[in-house]
Amino acid sequence: MCAANRIAKINRMAALSESDLLAGVPDQLFIGGKWVASLTGSTLDVADPSTGTTIKSIADASAGDARAAMDAAADAQADWATTPARQRGELLRRAFDLLQERKDQFALLMTLEMGKPVAEALSEVAYGGEFLRWFSEEAVRISGRYGTNPEGTGRVIVTHRPVGPCYLITPWNFPLAMATRKIAPALAAGCTVIIKPASLTPLTTLYFAKLLEEVGLPAGVVNVVTTASSGDISEPILADPRLRKLSFTGSTPVGVSLLKQAADGVLRTSMELGGNAPFIVFEDADLGRAVDGAMSAKFRNIGQACTAGNRFIVQASIAEEFTARVTERVKALKVGRGTEEGVAVGPLIDERAIAKVSALLEDAVARGAKVHTGGSAIDREGTFFEPTVISGVKPGSDILSEEIFGPVMSITTFTDEADAVRTANDTQYGLVGYVFTRDLARGQRLIDSLETGMMGLNIGMLSNAAAPFGGVKQSGLGREGGLEGIHEYLSPKYTLTPDPFA
Ligand code: NAD
Repeated sequence: MCAANRIAKINRMAALSESDLLAGVPDQLFIGGKWVASLTGSTLDVADPSTGTTIKSIADASAGDARAAMDAAADAQADWATTPARQRGELLRRAFDLLQERKDQFALLMTLEMGKPVAEALSEVAYGGEFLRWFSEEAVRISGRYGTNPEGTGRVIVTHRPVGPCYLITPWNFPLAMATRKIAPALAAGCTVIIKPASLTPLTTLYFAKLLEEVGLPAGVVNVVTTASSGDISEPILADPRLRKLSFTGSTPVGVSLLKQAADGVLRTSMELGGNAPFIVFEDADLGRAVDGAMSAKFRNIGQACTAGNRFIVQASIAEEFTARVTERVKALKVGRGTEEGVAVGPLIDERAIAKVSALLEDAVARGAKVHTGGSAIDREGTFFEPTVISGVKPGSDILSEEIFGPVMSITTFTDEADAVRTANDTQYGLVGYVFTRDLARGQRLIDSLETGMMGLNIGMLSNAAAPFGGVKQSGLGREGGLEGIHEYLSPKYTLTPDPFA
């Protein structure tokens, strides 16, 4: 970003008052087009992880509220499905436009409730917004098929119908983008939704629902339930025969338990689950590019991304140089509240995250890993952890099999391509892999041999609304974004009619 743009951005953000912004965020549930208190009257506190202080109290939904949201989504389904696709698309497009006008507000809100640096929050607004624009365009391109059957006796007609009311569950790490990545394709396809954001970061979804209300979305098409009791409110929704689809983004264990519940209703499911991304650097790689890629794959979102590089697997001949270069870069990262100028690493989401990252590091070091920089939580207000680099991580260390979800780069080495592929695939996860090599044929081989749904080839960041995001193995089922994304919310319908000439 050029200096003038950067200064303009800082001035814009500085003009935004945190308290005014928070006062404008709804604190109630959004059901059937109305803002309502929870039936039990209970509330849920949302904290700023950089200070630990409560920034807003909002409605804490109960099972009764969940049933009301289900009723609203079911009641609105038929009208929304028959609303012309152009009209559905134009509503999404208006939402995209209004989001651009409010990008600073959404960015600051995410920084306040989740902790990411404002510059990254602005990138998330751009990324999350693109799902609204992309699916506003896709809404009018839901095509079908017409043809003669092979026997010549009939005509085959294939159309695509909205699956029906959907339940969307999102995580805390990308509060806006994980919501728009589900809401936009569902609405484009003609489905109504109930969305349940993570209890740690529900404000962005409430603020987004307000935006949808402002652009004129009909009542009941999007319903928001915020709660501290996710299981209790999900149960009646998942058990309701009117629900037709569950789309979940979150951890693999919670996803597995939801899949079991979804089985009872034979629900369509989309599951965007955990990751354990290998980041492979071959000795023929452009090392500068690999180091840049590593920094973005690891430290984006404070390391709390499903696509975060989790295992840095570097060819032994260049491991020392790679480690030295990333260590130098990591030492220069500024840690602090996401609203401060120049901060690259904000707080972790909560104390549990600090405990988990600390335990993984302790285990790795006890087994012989070497710490190059960082290594512990920071003794200050909020939940901050030092940006860390470790190398010589031994096989069997927990850090190689679990998602770190923190600013810790864990480096191991390999000898040849077969060794790299074997190591990379040695995990139950299969979301994304990163490969750095100048050898085109090798890069192409790795596309096939890495057991992942996505691959960054000489690049450390790949998410894009126009591409199918998703994993294989225990990283999930289905895809979000791209041409594929809308089909998660559509069912093909086949009709046969006798051949008119027969
Ligand atoms: P989580 O599984 O703890 O929670 C995710 C969501 O599920 C939250 O809204 C939570 O309130 C809800 N939830 C928890 N228990 C539930 C239950 N019993 N019934 C219904 N809902 C329940 O995950 P998290 O800590 O919020 O997010 C981090 C995880 O999400 C990581 O594993 C990360 O890899 C994954 N993730 C995956 C993707 C992807 O696209 N594959 C994207 C972002 C995050």
